[in-house]
Amino acid sequence: AAKGGGRGRFRFYSSDLLQAAEDRRVLEEDLRDAISRDEIWLAYQPIVNAQTNIVTGFEALMRWNHPERGNISPALFIPIAEEANMIGELGEWALRKACEEAATWPGVMKVAVNVSPIQFAKDTLPKLVREALSVSGLAPGRLELEITESVFLQDSDDTDNMFQRLKDIGVRLALDDFGTGYSSLGYLKTAPFDKIKIDQSFVRGATEPGSRNGAIISAIVALANALGMETTAEGIESLDQLDLIRDLHVSHVQGYVYSQPVANDVLLERCEAGEWEITPAGPAVQ
Ligand code: C2E
Ligand code: MG
Ligand code: MG
Ligand code: MG
Repeated sequence: AAKGGGRGRFRFYSSDLLQAAEDRRVLEEDLRDAISRDEIWLAYQPIVNAQTNIVTGFEALMRWNHPERGNISPALFIPIAEEANMIGELGEWALRKACEEAATWPGVMKVAVNVSPIQFAKDTLPKLVREALSVSGLAPGRLELEITESVFLQDSDDTDNMFQRLKDIGVRLALDDFGTGYSSLGYLKTAPFDKIKIDQSFVRGATEPGSRNGAIISAIVALANALGMETTAEGIESLDQLDLIRDLHVSHVQGYVYSQPVANDVLLERCEAGEWEITPAGPAVQ
């Protein structure tokens, strides 16, 4: 520690730990005003039918355009929001914004919104979902909520009840980052998921010789098929990975090989330019 400058004032404190804590505190302060300052926005990444190459929807991924630091990853600021009691506000904003923007997309493409386990444990979630749908006019079947396995750490009656209330609204449910959590498979007996998202850690390395990842992915696909659920493989970066994933009969794919997450105006431009085959309105292959 070094004391300098004015009386009783610490000029700097050369501890990395303290510096990290201070950085975090400053970020938390900044985050409190980020929505009202219009610094939060949603990026969208296409989710593609692996057989037809048709874009069936987009995942909304939150971005924070910090005035000094530029775009900050949600991997950094979502945990801060969760600890500092701000995830409710951010999550509600994302839900409303995603529905509002998706309602302007051509065709009947879906929008997937990530829901924090903290939001999931709040009794008000179904009401917020219904409001976001009615304000935007988005059909419930076009909204998919992505939830991770960690929701199953909470009281199981409450969890079952919440799933049922959300399904009653008519929204779709996806199990995100499958295979990375605590993965007692017991919850799959009752949880009404429409889709399992295979975590990108299984895709990474899957094309290396001797990798067991392909075997794990095909077992997940068999499980999902038997339960009547779709599958999405996350984090497909190369054409080799895409080929392998298709051979393993994963139904949907998502990753940089198709597109990075993009702003809504870019999404609309690309749809307009026909760069993305879109799911047309009316009966169609999904
Ligand atoms: P996630 O829901 O599993 O989202 C997928 C992440 O993988 C995204 O990271 C996406 O940009 C990234 N990704 C997509 N394709 C590729 C690829 O080909 N290669 C690689 N290396 N990465 C790829 P992102 O946008 O940084 O988001 C990180 C996490 O933050 C998300 O993981 C999600 O858990 C959380 N998150 C994002 N937006 C929200 C939100 O609105 N609410 C909540 N509660 N969490 C959010
Ligand atoms: Mg997700
Ligand atoms: Mg994921
Ligand atoms: Mg993830």
